Amino acid sequence: MTIIKKGLIPFIMVMSFLLALSPLSVSAEIGSKTLDMPEETLTTGFEDRDGDGWTTLEEEAAFLEELAEMSDRVSYTQVGTSVEGRPIRLVRVGFPEPPSDEDIAAGNNILIMGTPHGNEPAGREMTLELMRDLAFTENDELIGQLREATILFVPTPNPDGRGANTRGNAWGVDNNRDHLNLDTPEMETVADILNEFQPDITVDAHERPSATGNPDIEMLWPRNLNVDEELRELNKELVQDYMRPDVEEAGFSTGLYGSPGGAGGGDERILRNMLGLRNGLGILTESAGSQEPLDRVDMQREAADSILRFYRERFDDVTELVDEAPERQAEVGSDPSEPFYLDGADNWDPTIVLDPKACGYLINSSQAKEINRHIDLFSLQTEQVSENGVFVAMNQPMMTVVPFLLDEQANYNEVNGLPLGNCLNPGEVEPPLGVPSLANLKILADRFEADGEFANDEAARAVNLHLTAVSQFEEQGETEKVVKHLDGLLDLLEHQRENELLSEEAYNLIEPQADSYMKDLQYAFYQGFVEEDGNSWDSSDFVNLHSWPTNPDGATYTIQDNTGQVDLDNRQQGNGSAFGRITPDMEETENSELLVRFKADETGNNQRLRLWLQSDAFSSGSSMPVNGYGIEMNLNTDELILRGRYDSSSTNFDRIDANMSDEWHWVRLRKQDDELKVRLWKDDMEEPDDWDMVHTLSPDEYLPNHSGRALLSVINFDYDSSNIFNFDEIIVDDLDQSINN
Ligand SMILES: [Zn+2]
Repeated sequence: MTIIKKGLIPFIMVMSFLLALSPLSVSAEIGSKTLDMPEETLTTGFEDRDGDGWTTLEEEAAFLEELAEMSDRVSYTQVGTSVEGRPIRLVRVGFPEPPSDEDIAAGNNILIMGTPHGNEPAGREMTLELMRDLAFTENDELIGQLREATILFVPTPNPDGRGANTRGNAWGVDNNRDHLNLDTPEMETVADILNEFQPDITVDAHERPSATGNPDIEMLWPRNLNVDEELRELNKELVQDYMRPDVEEAGFSTGLYGSPGGAGGGDERILRNMLGLRNGLGILTESAGSQEPLDRVDMQREAADSILRFYRERFDDVTELVDEAPERQAEVGSDPSEPFYLDGADNWDPTIVLDPKACGYLINSSQAKEINRHIDLFSLQTEQVSENGVFVAMNQPMMTVVPFLLDEQANYNEVNGLPLGNCLNPGEVEPPLGVPSLANLKILADRFEADGEFANDEAARAVNLHLTAVSQFEEQGETEKVVKHLDGLLDLLEHQRENELLSEEAYNLIEPQADSYMKDLQYAFYQGFVEEDGNSWDSSDFVNLHSWPTNPDGATYTIQDNTGQVDLDNRQQGNGSAFGRITPDMEETENSELLVRFKADETGNNQRLRLWLQSDAFSSGSSMPVNGYGIEMNLNTDELILRGRYDSSSTNFDRIDANMSDEWHWVRLRKQDDELKVRLWKDDMEEPDDWDMVHTLSPDEYLPNHSGRALLSVINFDYDSSNIFNFDEIIVDDLDQSINN
């Protein structure tokens, strides 16, 4: 059969869905049985327009409401909310009606998700049509399947992206690189669903937006090397022995997604891989996004029908392997002879292998707090083993994500845990220092006391008194007082060092911790880079550290000499530029100030540093926000430009000569009420009192958003020069918070 042509659809649908269903026909003969279908049935906006225009978000809402009204088999609820406040809905289809969520979770289910990338809409249309057809089918096999297992749908996991037709969410974050870190509300919602229902199979429907075909649709299983091997084998069978032949028989060409080492690899942040790491079967589908919309939805549908056929015919194999996978993985986790792979794929040799791997990781209490949502949404088992120590064993079903989250060598870990080679008494091991926290300060003070780093008991007691006060105020939520006492602690430590009451070495360990912890509390955003050389920027402090292009990366984020560096590559042929976009993880502020100490290794090339305040999100494909106030440091023209962004276009307010050199500089950008101010000065000078530029905003220059976040970006327009931008501290101060004023 060839690809279905528009005019033939009603006829061919009846033919090809003989065994499935046909909501459009009044009655159809199947063997000796007659299917009585509703005379008028529900259609999507996409169907109403015969493929000329995707179903809108409003039409989806109305469609789901009507479907649940018309059919007892369907129920749906809002299970999450996007960045911009749009609902994310979970649809349940069962027979004669969907079981309770508890029973769905305890029983068997399959989850079909459409369109995590907002500009890949065919999968979403497929989910809407499929849930409708299942709601009305009279086909015995399908009804039998619905009795046996619930079919779950999330038609639109990225509603903001679908609304704006962008790949990422409203922050510009690629949702399909967020299934480990769970920084976006959208993927936190998906993680919650996966964790609650533990689907036997999950389908993640994508498209290749610029592909015209060859093949029409690609598929792939989880390639991550830590996925249970028996599950992977069954997952491959699903692709090779069911989906590909079925979809090809329907007239579409098929292939495997990606190439070895590139897209389609083992990246633990991609849903396809995470589904395997969550001990279920996972399937990626990728239709050719530049074909006719009707064809794209058809090929997605053929793939989904084939997956349902596999789930029916191999139900016992699937459920047995999936049910037993957690226990198998816990055994692998506790077996030191089994390595753990921090990269690689089933078709690509790993380069970072933990062999032997740890038997577990020790983290401190504040690190445990920091990864609370991961503990929750991956159902991780943890144990408080000492006052400041929390133990995470590898002997557990979800050990598959533990090193990815806790091992310093992992590419996207959340915290640096301490890997243990012996797990008999983790409570007796000193917990690691994590990001600056009160727990860290206590750990250090105790350690100094035990190691004789204080000259006498009195010196140790003075430090402990301060920490006790900090701890009490922290418990009471009195941030202002916490900051005050930390400031006092810093003075005390300085005094003790000068008077040799505390060793120099100990001072150098505890001072940066106390200082960073204070600044974290004091500011809306604070980023210092007191880290080991060669580390990446701590991705948990940022919503996004973005690079254009990827592979090779236009922007690479590393730490050298306690300095955050952005290595900005030269522009590649065929691209407009190379750039990096930095999105701090912070609350939105209104009146605020951005203070950055920075240095460009070279000046004079066609590169820019851009800093923004009160911004919403980066414009698609741009290093500037949709809306925001900011400055541009142009290294080519040596100008500093004060600028507003309105609905993705720029208005320049003012400019000065920057007199930039390759030395360290400070820049302070302030937005207070209707004034925008900026000053730039060399690091070896005192900060001047005068501002370099002051612009009074007229009412028509106000932003539509009353509050927003700071954004930073670097961009290179040169084909033949690269550069390194160095950042020492990045501080965003909320001027409406009384704490610093
Ligand atoms: Zn995609």
